[in-house]
Amino acid sequence: MTPEEALARAAEAGIHRLAIPTPFAVGRVNCYLIEDDPLTLVDTGPNSGKALDELQTQLDERGHSIDDLELVILTHQHIDHLGLVEIIVEHSGAEVAALDAAVRRLANFAEDAELDDEFSVQLMLRSGIPENVVIALQSVSRSFRAWGSRAQVTRPLRDGEVLELRDRRLEVMHRPGHSPSDTVFWDAERRILIAADHLLPTISSNPLISRPLDGSNRRTQALVSYIDSLRKTRELPAEIVLPGHGDPVTGHAALIDERLVKTARRKEKILGLVRERPKTGHEIAQELWGNVAVTQAFLTLSEVIGHLDLLLNEGLVREVQDGDVVRYEAR
Ligand SMILES: [Zn+2]
Repeated sequence: MTPEEALARAAEAGIHRLAIPTPFAVGRVNCYLIEDDPLTLVDTGPNSGKALDELQTQLDERGHSIDDLELVILTHQHIDHLGLVEIIVEHSGAEVAALDAAVRRLANFAEDAELDDEFSVQLMLRSGIPENVVIALQSVSRSFRAWGSRAQVTRPLRDGEVLELRDRRLEVMHRPGHSPSDTVFWDAERRILIAADHLLPTISSNPLISRPLDGSNRRTQALVSYIDSLRKTRELPAEIVLPGHGDPVTGHAALIDERLVKTARRKEKILGLVRERPKTGHEIAQELWGNVAVTQAFLTLSEVIGHLDLLLNEGLVREVQDGDVVRYEAR
């Protein structure tokens, strides 16, 4: 099945991709309109006039308007996916559905974003990222916040529950990793999985290090949970996976295998680097990718720390405190 055929099949099932522009490097974000009762939108796009205009235009093309929306489903906490939610609710009075464990987090967007930044700053400094880079990244992150929004969830979803629309049943599956709140929606009858950023066709989903949904400051082992989540998704007999960016995925098991192989290889490579001498997360990231753009520094660090978590859990490396930074040492 080509991506075009997959999109056509989804459309026959009443699911239409609305690709909404974002100001971010990732490009457009996919929202999905489900023509059912209630009229449902999965994800909203970022909080910008341009995104709102495009959303309105693309809904118009299908004979709907923002005011008609009755349910907004949020797949995860990232701002490119939920920034327009408050505006949509203002216009339409739509219900907002999201994972129950994410409700507090979504309601406290501004406060949590601030705490996330502090958490990231500490993590980056401990990992040996130079202070000027950390400060630059913090101001980038602050400026990005305007594209986000708080969200008042009126329909909390439990992991494993079934969200019933008139014509379909969507099984709610919590699949943390890319973010702690990643949730996918499985239509077993049509074998369609709405996966958002949990599985992307051309880029691997960054398992971003973040604070857990309980609001504490513990660090999540993002890549460890992501691998666990991917393995679960691999078992689904999906024919079409609808991602948060790019074209539909039709061979999800092969794609997941590819991602897992790549992770195993990178883990070995990082172990090799650590065996040379104890290194900080930043040093390892630099050896792998050189000096990346400031905005990429947290992504690459998340990748490195994710793989180091795997090695830590396997007892192959350990963390040693060295002044203000943490180094990883082979055991
Ligand atoms: Zn995301």
